[in-house]
Amino acid sequence: SANATLAKVTPRINTILDTDKIRADFPILDIKVGNKPLVYLDNAASSQMPQQVIDRLVRYQTAQHANINRAVHYLSEVATLEYEHARRRVQQFVNAQEDREIIFTSGTTDSINLVMHGYGRKFIEAGDEIILTTLEHHSNIVPWQMLAKEKDAVIRVVPINDAGELDIDAYEKLFNERTKFVSLIHVSNALGTINPVKQMIAYAHQQNVPVLIDGAQATPHMTVDVQDLDCDFYVFSAHKLCGPTGIGMLYGKAALLEAMQPYKGGGDMIASVTFEETTYADIPHKFEAGTPPIAAAIGFGAAIDYLCSVGMDQIAAHELDLLNYATEQINEIKGASIIGTAAHKTAVISFTLDGIHPHDIGTLLNEDGVAIRTGHHCAQPVMQRFNVPATSRASFAFYNNKTEVDALITGIRMVQKVFL
Ligand code: PLP
Repeated sequence: SANATLAKVTPRINTILDTDKIRADFPILDIKVGNKPLVYLDNAASSQMPQQVIDRLVRYQTAQHANINRAVHYLSEVATLEYEHARRRVQQFVNAQEDREIIFTSGTTDSINLVMHGYGRKFIEAGDEIILTTLEHHSNIVPWQMLAKEKDAVIRVVPINDAGELDIDAYEKLFNERTKFVSLIHVSNALGTINPVKQMIAYAHQQNVPVLIDGAQATPHMTVDVQDLDCDFYVFSAHKLCGPTGIGMLYGKAALLEAMQPYKGGGDMIASVTFEETTYADIPHKFEAGTPPIAAAIGFGAAIDYLCSVGMDQIAAHELDLLNYATEQINEIKGASIIGTAAHKTAVISFTLDGIHPHDIGTLLNEDGVAIRTGHHCAQPVMQRFNVPATSRASFAFYNNKTEVDALITGIRMVQKVFL
């Protein structure tokens, strides 16, 4: 019977998060909007920061700050050690083989631009083809378009079905001998679709084509293992996983990073400089010119520590529970339509209400303290595919609870009363 009790209790502990305890870590969740409690459902844009990360930033700033890599004095050594420690936390988080495969950047956008300049401008030529998908965020479209324009290369786009899922047959048919690069979103920020990236990477590799995965919306919600995926590049931002803004990462396989040209020139990225010739530093420093956002990198490491202490599997289970609960209730609202009904989704609900503009929905919900995002979500091709100018998007984090889903649903019904 001791065993029987254990067998019964263990799954509960493993799958149910104590959200009250977690919420106590996030001071911002206690603020009021007017006189209403904040209901923060815009986590896909940026998530909130727990006290543990705030404390880490304060500790760095009060006792550890100096420039890194530059001096033999005490503080510079401490700051350098802490910055490199943060790099190893990121390495472990995505299970990269080596810490030099992790480049600190200012975010997902910066990471993609780095690969476009460092890899694309060096290796993509006229007539070459780059495969993207309809689901891409603008930050994984515009840099490749710039490259295509400069090089006279061609962008090919994987279509999606009515559920917002990629057409994998169409993807495979896009490949030919001119295909030189694939850049894919792991999880759609507009719809929540989780793409079968491992399978897509394997297919691209059969044709000797490297693949970049935009993991901005995956890393906050699930365990990511870059060695298991076997992606060539993986990118994400800290601010979507409870870390600071202004910092993100690029993972690249060491051999590829070594073959690439640096994106920015300056201090800290060189081995030696004369006016005749400069030799570059080894990776990762080759790609980190100038003083980096040291505090933000250390905060990034602390955010990863925090997420891992909660547990990525617990986070995924709790968010799936919220997604199902919210989806059921929105499906019951007459005139409401969910856009993006993929079988595999993160906790993102994009919806429209018949006869009511998303901007009005967002504005009225804000009066109830409910923060959602309205607009095109930097994914205009997705909006075009579903023939809508914009959607309303509620996106959940592990610190959200069912009371907040209820507040969203009550708010939506209120909006309909006002407008219809
Ligand atoms: N890619 C995806 C899927 C995103 O959701 C975002 C953020 O909105 C980005 C890229 C861009 O991230 P950042 O603005 O942090 O560079």
